[in-house]
Amino acid sequence: MNKKRLIIIGAGGVGNVALRKSARMEDIYEEILLASRTKAKCDAIAKEAGPVPVSTAQVDADDVEALVALIKSFRADVLLNVALPYQDLSIMEACLQTGVHYIDTANYEPPDVAHFEYSYQWAFQDRFKEAGLTALLGSGFDPGVTNVFTAYAAKHYFDEMHYLDIVDCNAGDHGKSFATNFNPEINIREITQNGRYFSEENWITTDPLEIHQSVDYPRIGAKESYLLFHEELESLVKHYPTLKRARFWMTFSEAYITHLRVLEDIGMTSIEPVTFQGMQIQPLQFLKAVLPEPSSLGPNYKGQTSIGCQMRGIKDNKERTCYIFNNCSHQMAYQDTKAQAVSYTTGVPAALGASLVARGIWNRAGVNNMEQFDPDPFLEELGPLGLPWEVVVDGKLAFGL
Ligand code: NDP
Repeated sequence: MNKKRLIIIGAGGVGNVALRKSARMEDIYEEILLASRTKAKCDAIAKEAGPVPVSTAQVDADDVEALVALIKSFRADVLLNVALPYQDLSIMEACLQTGVHYIDTANYEPPDVAHFEYSYQWAFQDRFKEAGLTALLGSGFDPGVTNVFTAYAAKHYFDEMHYLDIVDCNAGDHGKSFATNFNPEINIREITQNGRYFSEENWITTDPLEIHQSVDYPRIGAKESYLLFHEELESLVKHYPTLKRARFWMTFSEAYITHLRVLEDIGMTSIEPVTFQGMQIQPLQFLKAVLPEPSSLGPNYKGQTSIGCQMRGIKDNKERTCYIFNNCSHQMAYQDTKAQAVSYTTGVPAALGASLVARGIWNRAGVNNMEQFDPDPFLEELGPLGLPWEVVVDGKLAFGL
C-alpha cells in the first residue's frame, strides 16, 4: 500500500489523542498535518508526536476557500475532522472540492439552535457517491464504537435485535467542583436539551434529564443514569428496523446536576445572545471561557469510564441478551496520550476510523454511519489500540480481550 497523507482539523482534547495515535501508524501515513484555529495548540501537541512527521497550520474551518487551499497544498488523501460540530458542513464541502475522504466524530449542529440530526450531512450523500469518496460520520465512542458494537452484535449474536440501551458512565474524579469532559459548549447544549428515545415506531420526547434509573456498570457498580437524546439513536433506528426500542443513558453525579441547574436558572447556559458592555455575547460561550479546558483535566483524573450497548433480541428462535462494553482508565489514557479518558475514548476510534478509510479497508462511496461498514476489522484493532472490549451473552462472558 502507498502511504497516505492525513489532515487532522482541531487541536483540542480529541485532536491531541487522534494525532498522537495516528502519528504512531508509520506503515499507513507518510505525513500528517494538524491544523486548527490556534496554531500554538497544534505546535504543542505536534512536538511530542511521532514517528510519522507532523506539520502544523492555522486554519479557520468555517472558511471553505481557506480549507481547500490548505488541503491542496498538503496533497491530503484523508481528512479527520475533530473541530466542533459547527464546522462539519464547510469541511465536507472542502473535501468534495479537493477529492479527499472525510471522517468526523459528531453530527452537524447549527450554531444558533441546539438541534442534533443527521439530515444536514446525509444531504451530501449523492455528491460523495458521485465523487467516489467515503464520508464516515461519527467515528468517536458514542457515536462511533457504540454503533460498531451494535453492528457486531447484529452480525454475530442476533437474528433480530429488539431492544437497545446504550449506557455511558464516567466514574472518574478530576478533583474540580465543576468541569465538562469535552467541549463545554457542546456538552452543555447536549444535556440541557429535551430527552428523546425511540419506542414502538415513535420518538418520545421528555423534559431534560426527566427520566433516570440506576444502571449497574461492570467493575464500577450502580450509578444513577439519565436518559438523553444521542445522535447514534437516529442512524441505528434507521439501519436496524427490527428495533422496538432504543435509548441512551449517561451518568451524572448529584453535584454536577446541581451546578448545571444553578447555571441554567441564572441563564448562563443560554445560547441566546445578550448585550454586554456594548458587545453581543452568548452566555454559554462566556461560560466555556471560564470553565477548565477539558484537556487540562488529565493529570489528576482517577477512576474509569464504562461505555457499552445492552441489547435484547432473538437468536435461533430463543430470547437472548448481549452486552458489549469497554472500560477505560483515566490514568492509562493519560500515560498513553496525556489526555483523560473522555478525550481518549473519542480520539482512539477517530484515529482508527480514519486509518481504515486510508487503507481502503472501509471503502464505501457516499455518506455513511459506522454501522454501515463491516464491524470486524474495526473491533480487531480497537483493543490493541488501547480500548479492549468484552462481550457478555445471556449474563456470561462470551469474549474478552
Ligand atoms: P475542544 O473544544 O477541546 O477542541 C476543539 C478544537 O477545534 C479546538 O482546537 C478549536 O480551536 C478547534 N476549532 C474550533 N472552531 C474552529 C474553527 N472554526 N476552525 C478551526 N478550528 C476550530 O473539543 P474536543 O476535542 O473535546 O471535541 C472535539 C469534537 O469531538 C467535538 O465535535 C465533539 O463534539 C466531539 N466529541 C465526540 C465524542 C464521541 O464520542 N463521538 C465525544 C467527545 C467529543 P481553539 O483551540 O482555537 O479553540
